Amino acid sequence: MLIREKLVEGFKRGIVVPEGLIAHGRGECFDYLIGESTQPFALRAIEAAVAALLLAKHPVISVNGNTAALVPREVVELAEEVNAKIEVNLFYRTREREEAIAEWLRMHGAREVLGVGEDALATIPELFSERRRVSPRGILVADVVLVPLEDGDRTEALRRMGKTVIAIDLNPLSRTARAANITIVDNVVRAMPLMVEKARELKKKTREELARILESYDNNRVLQEALLHIYKRLQELASSKLTLDL
Ligand code: ATP
Repeated sequence: MLIREKLVEGFKRGIVVPEGLIAHGRGECFDYLIGESTQPFALRAIEAAVAALLLAKHPVISVNGNTAALVPREVVELAEEVNAKIEVNLFYRTREREEAIAEWLRMHGAREVLGVGEDALATIPELFSERRRVSPRGILVADVVLVPLEDGDRTEALRRMGKTVIAIDLNPLSRTARAANITIVDNVVRAMPLMVEKARELKKKTREELARILESYDNNRVLQEALLHIYKRLQELASSKLTLDL
């Protein structure tokens, strides 16, 4: 309920669009199937994601309306821990919305927010409309991009540009989940605080140790495990008593 209130508040502030509310509904459905808790496959992806961000030369956290509304403080904290830039990147881009999101992030401690107004003058090849605009100091030159709640087209375009893409997506079957290098199948409100915690822990490791974490990571296996988890959960539920005694 608290999550919905944050989105409604974000909607009133001009940060979240109606389409974002629909996207959230789809996420909630998968969260229900997963059991609304962080599973081991998500923890493994979080570890690999943080290792990739710490090893990156130019890490960027791409922020859309829902992410800004749900986890603004965690975006700022994670950016500080892994030394990443924060860039506003919207599917439905307007100047007012970009600025509302940047202001919201600054209220939560962000020192610099890229991708607002003239700063978003570079373009991602193969994408059309306002979705293709990115900052030449941010996503354009990034080697690792964290895209909580991204759409499939942009994830694929970023991959084709040679970037390592980390997605947070509750749907293990979405194009985003399948196109990303590392997919955290978990709710962004649970995953982001865990990423901040993990960054504080992994910062103490050597680059070799971080590289080993990344080498042993298998995203296909993680997506398979997410589906198996849902499958087993539904199987258990299907063989239990479902009706409520009132
Ligand atoms: P794709 O284009 O990747 O196939 P899609 O068109 O189904 O995805 P979008 O509407 O672009 O999806 O984005 C919504 C995605 O974000 C969905 O996959 C949904 O499960 C996920 N999502 C929504 N809310 C959350 C959340 N709070 N945490 C994690 N994932 C979420």
